[in-house]
Amino acid sequence: MSQLEIKNLHVAIGEKEIVKGLTLTIQSGEVHAIMGPNGTGKSTLSKAIAGHPDYTITSGEVLLDGKSILELEADERARAGLFLAFQYPSEIPGVSIANFLRAAQQARMAEGEELDASAYYKRLYSKMDLLKIDRKFTSRSVNEGFSGGEKKRCEILQMAMLEPKFSLMDETDSGLDIDALRIVADGVNTMRGPNLGVLLITHYQRLLDYIVPDHVHVMWDGRIVKSGDKSLALELEAKGYDWVKKELAAATA
Ligand code: ADP
Ligand code: MG
Repeated sequence: MSQLEIKNLHVAIGEKEIVKGLTLTIQSGEVHAIMGPNGTGKSTLSKAIAGHPDYTITSGEVLLDGKSILELEADERARAGLFLAFQYPSEIPGVSIANFLRAAQQARMAEGEELDASAYYKRLYSKMDLLKIDRKFTSRSVNEGFSGGEKKRCEILQMAMLEPKFSLMDETDSGLDIDALRIVADGVNTMRGPNLGVLLITHYQRLLDYIVPDHVHVMWDGRIVKSGDKSLALELEAKGYDWVKKELAAATA
């Protein structure tokens, strides 16, 4: 049982504060969705947690099983059990998915330890079978010329291989077509279980038709302003974000 705690987090890009005191706790086994209008700081939140160097955490804490991860480099955070799915994944021409995942696996091992190739391929193929991914897929270069759906498939396979404790998935306005959306949803639903916590960031309710979250949070101007269960996502879909804005204005009036 693991826990990811975000406590009163403040994140700045340069001089500008974007995340303004965000608090959220995720237990393994739970799927949390953060929704909110564009520009509210959702991607900033996920990048800051992943350790992106452009994002400065000015105050607050991010604790994984009670231990701060903020002093860790991005790769150390990954090793500690965090996975960040990028909204716009990079292309790595000339590096096959199989070799890329193998290198990622090797990098997580202790110095001097050698990854067993046959065991690695056995595990890779079993994950691919689980996710219904064609064997031919892993000989392609990482993300090179990939469709949106293929990028998502590559990302989901990485996640399956790394078996993170917590996965942060920023799917905001990436223009996911229905094919890509299903790949993400099927992947997350297949991996969903007591050992995985998911933070799903999305602008659109549509994804939550496929991945039914345990908790839904509305982010507004760098903070979580409303939380609820999956029905909150439906309410947002029906009433739009202006409804939350009016509620907020009424509460602070
Ligand atoms: P969301 O994901 O909710 O749409 P973002 O986290 O992408 O919001 O952006 C929040 C705010 O931070 C926006 O005003 C955006 O213009 C600004 N911002 C995001 N990334 C950068 C950056 N690299 N440099 C400067 N400003 C940025
Ligand atoms: Mg975003």
